Amino acid sequence: MDSGYHLMELPTKVLIGEGVISKLGDFVKESAGDSRVVIASGSNVTSKVRRAVDSALRQEAVWVEVAAADTVNVDRVMSSASGSGCIIGVGGGKSVDVGKLAAFRLNLPFYSVPTSASHDGISSPFASLKGLDRPYSIMAKPPVGILADIDVIASAPRRLLASGCGDLVSKLTAVKDWQLAHRVTGEYYGSYAASLALMSADVVLRGSRVLGKFGKDSVRDLVEALISTGVAAGIAGSSRPCSGSEHLFSHYVDILAPDSGLHGEKCGIGTIMMAKLHGVDWRRVRSALRNVGAPVKASQIGVDDAVVIESLVKASSIRPDRYTILSRRKLNRKSAAALARSTGVI
Ligand SMILES: [Zn+2]
Repeated sequence: MDSGYHLMELPTKVLIGEGVISKLGDFVKESAGDSRVVIASGSNVTSKVRRAVDSALRQEAVWVEVAAADTVNVDRVMSSASGSGCIIGVGGGKSVDVGKLAAFRLNLPFYSVPTSASHDGISSPFASLKGLDRPYSIMAKPPVGILADIDVIASAPRRLLASGCGDLVSKLTAVKDWQLAHRVTGEYYGSYAASLALMSADVVLRGSRVLGKFGKDSVRDLVEALISTGVAAGIAGSSRPCSGSEHLFSHYVDILAPDSGLHGEKCGIGTIMMAKLHGVDWRRVRSALRNVGAPVKASQIGVDDAVVIESLVKASSIRPDRYTILSRRKLNRKSAAALARSTGVI
């Protein structure tokens, strides 16, 4: 922060455990009272979860199905929300991001009810949407409350859980980039927020074999680690501890190949390569991702070699204000291809 101070915004309460979805009505009552609530939900939310939410709420609920994480859907949620006490995002990434930004713009409390653990947006103050003026996350507010039902999340497809692991390991290189930026540009660096983010990466790096079985205890660890990275961003007052060069790479792949892979999958693959650039143990990152069943090759998520190379070369241009290892190393096509080949990504 330029001015020597920054604001920390954190989630106020987290309810986590098996079967806690039945407590949603009481959980949101503090903010919503008896006013109606608007629910931004993903298209993949099962009818079982819908019924559980409806029977848990004491308040009238208006469901808005979010088809895409874009500004059109933010507007749809906003126009349904007048007179509501709060907005609840029920689902995976899209509905949480859309609900979060709609609530931020209307100055309403936002509750996050993740049905999967595929990325750290479930707790962070950021929303990642298409149709904004930039291809990376924007600052909103963190959810007031997060209700994470482990029964619901553990029954999500394994691919989503593995993607969440990819977003967690990415904190390793995000923190390296943050430290580098601090040394080179004098940018604010918070060692506490950095340590917190690294602890979340360690949940995957140290425990990948057990984690990859995705038993209930492991899913709980995964969800708590994801929530914690959102808190690390809140403490830092920026996405620095959670998002570095590996996220820039992922965002650039999104531009060139919009429907390829999940956010956490692309960030995990990016982390393997950025770890090598930073001179840290990239093989450890790769084997941890393999152990949890996350992709380690671009072809596994339908991304071809040319997209990987172009994304490596151009990723830093989408956010020039964010100094990372890609600002320092300035890859050309040849060195980018060498990096991707040497790490087995292509
Ligand atoms: Zn992420």
